[in-house]
Amino acid sequence: MKIIVCLKQVPDTKGGVQFNPDGTLNRAAMLTIMNPDDKAGLEAALRIKEQYGADVTVLTMGLPKADEMLREALAMGADHAILVTDRLLAGADTWATSSTVAAAIKKLDYDLIITGRQAIDGDTAQVGPQISEHLDIPVISYAQDIKIEGDSVIVQRQYEDRYHVVKAKMPCLITALSELNEPRYMTPGGIFDAFEKEVTVWTRADLTDLDDANIGLKGSPTKIAKASDKVRKGAGETVNLDPDEAVAYLMGKLDEKHLI
Ligand SMILES: Cc1cc2nc3c(=O)[nH]c(=O)nc-3n(C[C@H](O)[C@H](O)[C@H](O)COP(=O)(O)OP(=O)(O)OC[C@H]3O[C@@H](n4cnc5c(N)ncnc54)[C@H](O)[C@@H]3O)c2cc1C
Repeated sequence: MKIIVCLKQVPDTKGGVQFNPDGTLNRAAMLTIMNPDDKAGLEAALRIKEQYGADVTVLTMGLPKADEMLREALAMGADHAILVTDRLLAGADTWATSSTVAAAIKKLDYDLIITGRQAIDGDTAQVGPQISEHLDIPVISYAQDIKIEGDSVIVQRQYEDRYHVVKAKMPCLITALSELNEPRYMTPGGIFDAFEKEVTVWTRADLTDLDDANIGLKGSPTKIAKASDKVRKGAGETVNLDPDEAVAYLMGKLDEKHLI
């Protein structure tokens, strides 16, 4: 069984977020981590590998420094790593990102593709389902549990107040929630091996099943018009009222802001 896990290197917000003058994120200057949902997706793939036997490939589109994240994945137990990197691919929105990642996946054999539900920087949760559209395979999103049964996957799909158990024939795509599991640490031996393993690097030229109209900033139907910080909260206000009046005052304020 062949599993592809899509990983995204995202800014570690503990290190602070930095913007370029044009409002885009200055990814090169920020501390980075493996996106948490993707790490859970990788852990799920590694558990499937241990239980049923599988070959796990991790794949990312990103800056050359995403190599570090791929090596972390190899040190956790992934078998192969692919980095898709090229200036022509920069500035991609979800459409251009998913078109490019799907074109890379088309070069590979797969039974199961796992992405995270959502990346903590872009926060759209669109890339996984869009990849499945490009590949014309079923998608099960919001997976909180994954089991394999013959040539099918059985997934608990999370809803706000319940879950559904959904079965799909492979090949299919699953988007993983961080709640899926507790990802393992890298092992010391794994870290040494990871630095000896090869990370396959593909550029635009390696992706033959991809139209120039669908890549990078030019191929993105959406453009970031403006990025700004959140408006900071005001200093707050203290009122001295008896309990009944205080409740009425508070309810009035909440009502005024359409919160209740
Ligand atoms: C400040 C800011 C503004 C943005 N504005 C827009 C906008 O206006 N319109 C728009 O469409 N997009 C916008 N984006 C999104 C940006 O282009 C995304 O980084 C990119 O499209 C991926 O989407 P996402 O981060 O929301 O991923 P999600 O859809 O949340 O990611 C889901 C999963 O897909 C996989 N995945 C995502 N990206 C990659 C990758 N590069 N390589 C491999 N796997 C991947 C991962 O497994 C991930 O967990 C913005 C991003 C930022 C940071």
